[in-house]
This record gives sequence, structure tokens and C-alpha cells, in this order.
Amino acid sequence: MQIDPDQNAELMAMQQLIGRDILLPLFENSSSFIIVLDAATLRIVAANRPVRDMLGLNMRGLQRLYLSDALPDLPPGRVNRFLQRFNGLRRPRVRLRLALRRRQDMILDVDIMRMAGRVPSIVVQAQDMTNTLNALRQADNAEARLTTAIDALSDGFALFDAADRLVICNDTFRTFYPASAAVMQPGILFVDILRAGLQKGQYAAAIGKEAAWLHDRMDRHLNNPGAIEQKLSNGRWLRIVERRTVDDGRVGLWVDITTLKEQQDALRRLAVTDELTGLRNRRNLLEDISLLLDGLPPQRSVVVFHLDLDRFKAVNDVYGHLAGDHVLKHCAAVLESAVPPGDFAARVGGDEFIVVRRMPSDQAQINDFANEIIKRMMEPISYAGQCLHIGASVGVALLDVGIGMGARGTVLTAADLALYEAKKLGGMAVFYETGMLDDVMAQNALARELQTALERHEFEAYFQPQIDVARGSCIGFEALLRWKHPRRGVLSAGVFLAIAQRAGLTDALDTLMMDEACQCLRLLAEQGRPDISVSINMSTAQLSDPRLPQRLESAVDKHGVPRNLLHIELLESTLLDERTAYFLTNVQAMVAAGFVVELDDFGTGHAAIAALRKFRVSRIKIDRSFIRFIDTDEELQKLTGAMISMANSLDIGVLAEGVETQGEQDCLCRMGCTLSQGWLYGKAMPLRSLDQFLFAGHDAAGQDRSSVSPNAIRGVI
Ligand code: C2E
Ligand code: CA
Ligand code: CA
Repeated sequence: MQIDPDQNAELMAMQQLIGRDILLPLFENSSSFIIVLDAATLRIVAANRPVRDMLGLNMRGLQRLYLSDALPDLPPGRVNRFLQRFNGLRRPRVRLRLALRRRQDMILDVDIMRMAGRVPSIVVQAQDMTNTLNALRQADNAEARLTTAIDALSDGFALFDAADRLVICNDTFRTFYPASAAVMQPGILFVDILRAGLQKGQYAAAIGKEAAWLHDRMDRHLNNPGAIEQKLSNGRWLRIVERRTVDDGRVGLWVDITTLKEQQDALRRLAVTDELTGLRNRRNLLEDISLLLDGLPPQRSVVVFHLDLDRFKAVNDVYGHLAGDHVLKHCAAVLESAVPPGDFAARVGGDEFIVVRRMPSDQAQINDFANEIIKRMMEPISYAGQCLHIGASVGVALLDVGIGMGARGTVLTAADLALYEAKKLGGMAVFYETGMLDDVMAQNALARELQTALERHEFEAYFQPQIDVARGSCIGFEALLRWKHPRRGVLSAGVFLAIAQRAGLTDALDTLMMDEACQCLRLLAEQGRPDISVSINMSTAQLSDPRLPQRLESAVDKHGVPRNLLHIELLESTLLDERTAYFLTNVQAMVAAGFVVELDDFGTGHAAIAALRKFRVSRIKIDRSFIRFIDTDEELQKLTGAMISMANSLDIGVLAEGVETQGEQDCLCRMGCTLSQGWLYGKAMPLRSLDQFLFAGHDAAGQDRSSVSPNAIRGVI
């Protein structure tokens, strides 16, 4: 091994001086700076390699220099004074920290030792701490920055170690959980923080089931970290995102989502709230009914009441929509006051409501509640100085415990079906019965078939004769709608008309009847009977159609028949209930155009006598319910007698409907009513049979006969 001659010389010099001392060779390659001074002269005797490298001097250059000469950063006087004082001290060693600034920023931890020996020495050992201290300072800064950042977070932050002890959390985390903030000291277990909160009822979802909640929350925290939403008892909502850290701890972020939740709630509430009444609407109804069912106390059932207001449309039409709104709000308030907390009322359609209640499944009690509602709905409602009168019909259905969600849906249908029956009776409460569903299924089947019936020309007008018994002649026919059903034969209007109306076929069927009635009139004229009238029935919808007079006119014009032979039958009930804007205008226009208006089903609709004049009715048709058994029922005779004399005094014609027996006919004749329609003379027949009927009926035009034999007429049919 080659030895650098210069270095060799240095070593020689060192050995000369402190050759007996083994320290220096050991220190030669140490990472510390080591300088040996002569204690007496305070001059440098030796210095190790790091010193020489740092100062750029060799051993010879260094020897005999004062320490302050070698390190010009140090104030010379002070260094020597310090060393002299050190010489005088009994302490053999002094430690100090020194910052050298001028050369470069360097921080040294200096250890000064006295070494006794042949030549007393002072050994100065210095450790460069600059990097270490910088690293420490940086670490301190980083931690301070992190803590500041965590504290400044508007979200809660907490870190737990592998033993699930709290390492650090910020103030936001503490403010989110005021009930457990006090225990949130580093070292506490997460589960103990939760327990502290639980004790004070901090977690809304935990109340009453603390143990299960805690188990679930810990499971999430330890095994299944991810995002959860948590509601606190003070109304605050938090979204918690937890993650596993690399060293198997847990770190979590707690975000306040209260505002978001409130907005969501408001939107949801809006979506399930009826704007006008503030009741809930029909959205999620079934789910909420199911919720009631799930938490049902024993001996109770969930009962659904489906209400439909009676005469609401009339209020709306006569008094306007504001009055209608007022009525609906009033009804909502009535229902709300009738429903105990936890049960609920909803508005599910224009004038339809649903009340859902948990009550004993005792029919009498349920009935009492329904009737109480009906009674309160019948109480007059004051509006703008007026008294409005409505009523309600109620369908009732019970929901059985222990049925699946699918079957639960049928409770609404069942209540609806019961309501349909209740509506027919008017102002009643009707319980759902199994048969109702069958009826509806049959009707639904009909409704489906009806759609195609029109395209297949399965509808046809039949004509029922009207007889002037005094003259023994046929004076007219009523056109009645028939459906030639491919399997079920000829169906009467009574069987399917309501369904057809619901299926939206009214317009097409009305047009068909107008056309066939006019066709019938033309045929009669062609057969030499231009004096016989044909009546058609007008539905309410048709009467409210502003195009009605024009449609009638074009029908008669198309077939070239006189208007006065086309009679229009209005239902008496229509006059009362459905005073739509065009109704009166239409009737007046029809009369003005020369059509004859008759009032159908007279006696059933309670029309005011005044209405007969107002609508310029030419004839009333006394309803079948008065005619049936009239010959044996004195009450009916009195009522019918009164109707006949009232009509006579107003110079209005009278026709009796549904005359089935000779006895009934004789009775009517005695009372002065000689115009009749009914099975005694003939059922409704197709157009092609009219000829035969008229011929066999011996009632040729102009032939004046004092009486007609019903048998002669009936015989042909
Ligand atoms: P409505 O106008 O009172 O017609 C009389 C109904 O009584 C007819 O039933 C008829 O077949 C039946 N009828 C006639 N004489 C007797 C009798 O002596 N005894 C019995 N038991 N019944 C008799 P239909 O054809 O089923 O009509 C029922 C209702 O349907 C009609 O009552 C009418 O309101 C309506 N309607 C029928 N055709 C039409 C139509 O084309 N348009 C409109 N809008 N309604 C119609
Ligand atoms: Ca009629
Ligand atoms: Ca009638």
C-alpha cells in the first residue's frame, strides 16, 4: 500500500506530539471534527481529516495556529478567553452548541475536554448538527402545517391507530359531537367515544336500540369502512367516510350534509304533498300503508277509506274554481282533524281522498268512522257569503296482516271498487266484497272488446216504438244503442254504455246514433210515415259540446229530414247537476233550430218545475219506476197523477215509459196519459224490422182510431 508522503509526514508529526495517545489515530476518520490544542499555549497541535478537509489545510498548515485563526468565524479574543477560563475550571468537560455563520450556516455541537498527560491538551470535538437540525425543523414545520390544515378543515377529521386509539382529531370533529367531545383525547378507543355519545342520546337512529347500533357502527368502522350517513339527535346529518390506513389504523372524514338533507327532504315532501290542500298526494301511498302495517299493534287492522265527494262538480261549475278549491281545502281540514296522529289522509284525485287508519277490524266501529266523515262532509260550507253543500261516498277495504307487498296493492283497488258501489248508492259507506272484483274484471274484459267493436261495426241503433194509445197509432221511436257482441249476442246500452263512455267512445257513438236516427226518419218518410218522430238520448258530455247544434243540423241536412221530427231526450238529472257553460246555450240553440226537447226519466232527478220552462221542454217521459205496478200501488198513482196534471197545466206532453202490462196501461189511460212506450208494445228493434212492425200494427197514417189493441202491435215483435 502506497502512503501519501505528505500524509505520512503529518502522521509522523502527530505521533511525535501525542504519539503515546492512541486517541488521535482513532479519531482520524471519525465523522466528527476533532482538534487537539496544547492546553498551555492554546495552539493547535493536531486535527483530524474532517477538520483538515473543511479548512482546506494540511496538518503542518494547522499546527501552531490558534483556534480562532483556523476558524475566522469565531471572535478571536473570546475564544481564547473561554479556553483559558476552561483551563482554570475543575470540570474536565464542557458541551455547547455553536453556530458558524460566515463560512456557511453550520451548527455544531461542541464537546471540549481536558486531557491530562505528558503534555496537557484540550480536545475539541464538534459534531455537525446542521442537517439533523434542519430535518428536525422541517419535520416540526410539516407537523405544524398538517395540524393547522386539519384544524382549518370544515370537515371533521380523526385518525385512529391499529389499536383503534385516537391519534389526532380536529376541532370540527369535536363540534360535530358535542356530547362526546370531552372524551376525545388522544389514546381513547373509538368505541369509548361512541359509548360516551350513546349515553347522552347523541345518535338519533340508536335511541332505544343502543347495543345493536353500537355493534353495527363498530362493524362498519373496523371491517367495512366506506361511506355512511348518520343523523344526530340535534338534527345534524353527517356523511362519514372511513378508510383503513397503511399501518392498519383508521382515518375518517366527517362531512356535514345537514343542508343537503334538508333540501332533499323538502323536495321529497314537495313531491308527496298536494299543493292545494297540503295533504299528501298518492305518491308512495302504498309504501306508507305498508309501513303502518309493519308496525301494527295487536288486534288492529289497517283500514283504507276511499272518499269521493258528491256534487263537487256542480259547486265548481256553478260557483267557480275558487269555490271548488275552498271546498277541497275544507274537506282536507275535516279529514285531517278526524285522523289521529300516525294515521294519515291523502288527496288522490280531483275530489278523491284516501284515509288510512289503524283500528280494530270491527265492522261497526269502521262504519261509525266512515259515517262520521260522511256526516261532516254534508255540513254546509260557507264561502263568500254563500252556503255550499256537498257530500261524500266512501269505499272501505281492510288490509290483512301477513300478506306480501304485491297483495297489499290490491287494498287500494278494493277500496276503489267499494267506492264505485258507494257512488251508485250516493252518500254511503260500502265495504269491499269479493264479488266486486269479479264484476270489474268482467267490465274490464268488455272495455277491452269495446275498443275493437267500433272498428268492426258491431254497434247499431235499435228503435223502440212510442204509441198514442188514444189514437191507436205509432207516433215515434226512441233510438237505443245496441252492441251486437260476437259471442254474447245483442247487448243493451244499460250493460255497456258507462264502460264505453269511460273508454272514450262517446263521441263516435253519439255521431253514429244521430246518423242512424236521421236515416230512420228518412226511411219512415219514404214508407209514407213522415209524421213519426225519432228520439235520441243526449249524454251530458255531448250536451256540453259547443259543436252539438251544428252536428245535429248537419245530420238532419245530410238525410234531408225535418228538424221537428228529431227529438232530443235530456236526462232530468242533467238539468240539476251538470250546469256547464254550454249546456243552456246548447239547449236553447237546439230549440231555436227547431229540434224538440224531451225530459227523460222524469220524477227521478228532482228537476225544478221552473227548469221545464227555462229549457223549453216539449214533453216529459215519466220514469219506469213510477209506471211499474202503478195499477196496484196508490202511492205511485198519486205521484204520477201529480206529474201528469203539472205537465198538463204547463202545456207539456207526457209519455209513460216502461209500460209492460195492460193493467198499467189502463190505469195510465184513466189518469189521462195516453202516450206510452214499453215492452207491452214492443222492445227496441233493428231498422229493417220497423216496416213490418208498422204494417202489422194497423196504424197507417191518417187513420184515426179511438183505441188500439196492444196485442195487435205486440204480436209482431
Ligand atoms: P232510457 O233512455 O230510459 O231508455 C229506456 C231503457 O229502458 C232502454 O234500455 C230500454 O230497452 C228499456 N225499456 C224500454 N221499455 C221497457 C220496459 O217495458 N220494461 C223494461 N224493464 N225496460 C224497458 P237500454 O236500451 O238498456 O238503455 C238504457 C239507458 O241507456 C237508456 O235509458 C238511455 O239513458 C241510455 N241510452 C241508450 N241508448 C243511448 C244512446 O244512444 N245515447 C245515450 N247517450 N244514451 C243511451
Ligand atoms: Ca231515453
Ligand atoms: Ca228513460
